[in-house]
Amino acid sequence: MRVPMIAGNWKMNTTLSEAIELVNEIRQGLGQIAHVDKVICPPFISLAVVRELIKGSSIKLGAQNIYFEEKGAYTGEISPLMLTDLCEFVIIGHSERRLYFNDTGEITNKKIRAALKVKLKPILCVGERLEENEAGRTEEIVTGQLGASLAGIDYLNGLIIAYEPIWAIGTGKAATGEQANETIGLIRRNVVELYSERAAQEIRILYGGSVTAANATEFINQPEIDGALVGGASLKADQFLSIVTQAAEIENRLSG
Ligand code: PEP
Repeated sequence: MRVPMIAGNWKMNTTLSEAIELVNEIRQGLGQIAHVDKVICPPFISLAVVRELIKGSSIKLGAQNIYFEEKGAYTGEISPLMLTDLCEFVIIGHSERRLYFNDTGEITNKKIRAALKVKLKPILCVGERLEENEAGRTEEIVTGQLGASLAGIDYLNGLIIAYEPIWAIGTGKAATGEQANETIGLIRRNVVELYSERAAQEIRILYGGSVTAANATEFINQPEIDGALVGGASLKADQFLSIVTQAAEIENRLSG
């Protein structure tokens, strides 16, 4: 059984004091919700402080990006090695990175290799643009992104995939549960082809794109979908907590 995951991508939001306030609210509200992995991905500058604040709780920590070199003269960059004693996960290949920072398939692949090398678990994002979706090219685009991102990588070692249609990110226009389930099923079949049936059954594949407390169940209820990568709604403790609670209820129903 794959443990569902709800991951919050805070993006370039929250000052240090806002991050402290938000994580405290989340920690208090989460109580003992079990059977769901809860991951928060604050900005780099807050990671160390947030790490202290979640000690003893079940909240896990992720970063939003890395550079692929281990160390050296790369002013302003953060290496995977620097994150190893701070967090467990790192988002790689987010569409905003691909769009604004030229994170190509090749760079995404280098970042995934670099993360896996130091045992950070990548949350690899893939997804098509609106015009690609409308032209019926979703399968081609997503398959191409997976192939490029995972080229030459033999073992997935805890890697997570997030299917995030670009037209649904931050737009308030989520995909439907069925649409997301279909594409995530396709991604799982890709994992069978690239790796094995077992790898495909083990890997967690999340949906991301305008997930809120109001629509989370529609996605998490789908058989292929193992949770959500949440942007905007993860900045509001009550929304994030509600999404986690919905995932726990679904999981308890399925396993009970
Ligand atoms: C994201 O940034 O990964 C995301 C899914 O954002 P939002 O939930 O705001 O659409």
